Amino acid sequence: MPEQSVVIIGAGPAGLRAAQALVRGGVRPVLIDEAERPGGQIYRQPPAGAARAAEALYGFEAQKAIAVHAILGRTGDAIDYRPRTLVWNVFGDRLDTLGPDGQGSLAFDRLVIASGAMDRVLPFPGWTLPGVFTLGGAQIALKAQGVSIGRRVAFVGAGPLLPLVAYQYAKAGAEIAAVLDVTPLAAKVRHTGGMLAEPATLAKGLRYTLRNAVSGFIMRFGVRAIRAEGERRVTGLAWRDAAGRVHRVDCDAIGASFGLRSETQLADLAGCAFVFDALTHQWVPQRDGAGRSSVPGVYLAGDGAGIGGADVAELQGERAALALLQDIGRPAAAARIATLDRKLARQAPFRRALEAAYPYPGHLVDAIADDEIVCRCEGVTAATLRSTARGRDAHELNRLKAFTRIGMGRCQGRVCGHAAAEILARTVGKDVAAVGRLRGNPPIKPIPVANLSSGSLP
Ligand SMILES: Cc1cc2nc3c(=O)[nH]c(=O)nc-3n(C[C@H](O)[C@H](O)[C@H](O)COP(=O)(O)OP(=O)(O)OC[C@H]3O[C@@H](n4cnc5c(N)ncnc54)[C@H](O)[C@@H]3O)c2cc1C
Repeated sequence: MPEQSVVIIGAGPAGLRAAQALVRGGVRPVLIDEAERPGGQIYRQPPAGAARAAEALYGFEAQKAIAVHAILGRTGDAIDYRPRTLVWNVFGDRLDTLGPDGQGSLAFDRLVIASGAMDRVLPFPGWTLPGVFTLGGAQIALKAQGVSIGRRVAFVGAGPLLPLVAYQYAKAGAEIAAVLDVTPLAAKVRHTGGMLAEPATLAKGLRYTLRNAVSGFIMRFGVRAIRAEGERRVTGLAWRDAAGRVHRVDCDAIGASFGLRSETQLADLAGCAFVFDALTHQWVPQRDGAGRSSVPGVYLAGDGAGIGGADVAELQGERAALALLQDIGRPAAAARIATLDRKLARQAPFRRALEAAYPYPGHLVDAIADDEIVCRCEGVTAATLRSTARGRDAHELNRLKAFTRIGMGRCQGRVCGHAAAEILARTVGKDVAAVGRLRGNPPIKPIPVANLSSGSLP
């Protein structure tokens, strides 16, 4: 087979391990990432020159972070690494990019998409007030810039990021107003046995939670409804407990999100088939156990094709690279493939238990009031979605988008698409999987208009 041009999108744990395995197999991949430095979300690095100890930044994960960051240093010129470069479109076998040298177009024979995840956002009263961040956004401020989102911060959400970010903020010296989990404590207790499949990871989660508890923070589980208070910016957070009692704390910032959602737009533009993943309650691109997508030559690894966490992302990145090497007729160690497959299989029961410990907080969707803004880019309210769904027979999400402009703004539905689907499903009495998903459109993230004209738009 002639020399193949291999491109990896994403220099997180999945993309970096994929690149490393390809180099070992004799391939020099192009590795593209919009971030300034490698590491992805979990091992995000501060800007060059702002050196901070790995232990301070990554805690228990410091050694893993150091190992992942070292990949590029060790492989040197064997990887064509292109940081600060956004891939904003996939068109056939070409990528449209925007990087330090401006607009670019890059052809590929094989593509590995390792685009990671972002926070899952649900609207609640006050969610658009200045001072409200996602949990991941709050963590990025801390990791990348060494700043807190406020002096006295309240955290609310569902998922393992909640206790972790609260712990990291407390350790960095922030005052914690409250840590509110919208999922029940009973679910965590019930699924502890399943999470014992990965005892070290479970121990870390317990340690964050216990440290938060002994620090004396207000910690609540099973929170039913939340409201960010304030006129011009956040001044407090109110919540209702399971018994219906209302509580509030003063704070000047809130970190709030409700699990993670895969960044799937590039896989969508590449033409990959999607499946609804009931476990994480979202549509993800279909892949086989090795990482092959439904499109020949396109491979998927890491959180971008289903939330699995950083360790799984590393394993999947390497596994997808080995599948790619096999597909182009290069040697790929069978023993290593067997080891990776075994390790990946061992992670599955843990992931199932973890997701069950943080069940999808549908009660927050039920509570979204008619006057709530769902799509902040286009100013679309829940009432507009509901009345259009009923009045114009818009029972499918892209039809609802056409009528209401939901998901047509800067975020292209990455922030609002999930909530819109949930609201639509409830309005028309269907399962959320039955109302479809927003189709990906280029540019997947905002770029200057001047660059649009030189891209491969249909
Ligand atoms: C904000 C946030 C914070 C998190 N923090 C933690 C944590 O502290 N601990 C933990 O255990 N888990 C954390 N997670 C989950 C964790 O990030 C993942 O499990 C792990 O990082 C997944 O690795 P990955 O390689 O699949 O993706 P990521 O690490 O997310 O890497 C994806 C990379 O792709 C790049 N990328 C994406 N789209 C494009 C594009 N169009 N063009 C160019 N580059 C692109 C991104 O810049 C990123 O560097 C976090 C997740 C998020 C979203």
